[in-house]
Amino acid sequence: MIKNVSVIGAGTMGNGIAHVFAQAGFSVTLIDVNAAQLEKAIATIGKNFDRQVAKGTIAEEVKTKALANITTASDVAAGVKNADLVVEAATENVDLKLKIFKSMDEAAPAGCILATNTSSISITKIASVTKRPELVIGMHFMNPVPVMKLVEIINGYATTKEVTNTIVELSKQLGKIPCVVNDYPGFIANRILMPMINEAIYSLYEGVAGVEEIDTVMKLGMAHPMGPLQLADFIGLDVCLSILKVLQDGFGNPKYAPCPLLVNMVMAGKLGLKSGEGFYVHTAGSKELVVSGSFK
Ligand code: NAD
Repeated sequence: MIKNVSVIGAGTMGNGIAHVFAQAGFSVTLIDVNAAQLEKAIATIGKNFDRQVAKGTIAEEVKTKALANITTASDVAAGVKNADLVVEAATENVDLKLKIFKSMDEAAPAGCILATNTSSISITKIASVTKRPELVIGMHFMNPVPVMKLVEIINGYATTKEVTNTIVELSKQLGKIPCVVNDYPGFIANRILMPMINEAIYSLYEGVAGVEEIDTVMKLGMAHPMGPLQLADFIGLDVCLSILKVLQDGFGNPKYAPCPLLVNMVMAGKLGLKSGEGFYVHTAGSKELVVSGSFK
């Protein structure tokens, strides 16, 4: 029975994952090596709960109880020692994830399920550095976590049916809709989404159309709620680049090669929403879409 959930990484995804578990009544430990990031995550969770209360989707007391369910920690080993489930949502970097899984495998109680929110990295590879590969699984939430219904659940080579069933039921308990897939690069969500985003960036790079035109065609023509360039900003351009590299390496197929413009933007620190600028300029509190000066 899962009661205590530790979430590793308090970035874009980690704060949302902590939010939904806390709202569903789980005791949550949110862990990050960066103290400022933890502080920012708690403030973001508070603001997001305020928004739900203002909209009337939850009562004030649900918010108060949920916030009381969250504690923070700066050390992985200490933060997972009482966990029944860990959801790792640290930076999308394979060496970092292998390091984190090795240390949490040593520190987490026997029987604790180790899940990763990775967008694309092999679950089987991550599981291979632990002594419990049968308890390792992908639990891929979508951004923004409190809003998006899907959880893509990825079975590693050794993941048992019992573990998959536990995570399927748990996702339903969070009010989500689980979808179980197998462990190949990018799984389903990003194997299909990232080539589209990359193609949109190539179209911009080759001068076929501007930022607004590309996003408008895909929004109005395909009924997508947001265009691919806006979505890339929202996901984080560094995250998009990492996923494309995983697809390129994993399939050995040049069709996944990241567009040089994406590579340049990440090197320049233009990461999208989280850095304040990507294809668009993002001003705190403003919902207006303003194309970055680099693309005007
Ligand atoms: P992010 O860059 O916003 O946050 C990552 C966090 O991990 C940072 O706060 C960082 O300080 C922390 N971190 C780094 N090393 C750590 C360590 N050793 N221990 C604890 N914390 C550590 O990244 P994100 O966008 O939240 O992505 C997190 C994961 O979720 C990635 O695997 C990513 O692929 C996946 N994901 C992202 C999205 C998205 O839209 N951004 C969607 C689905 C899945």
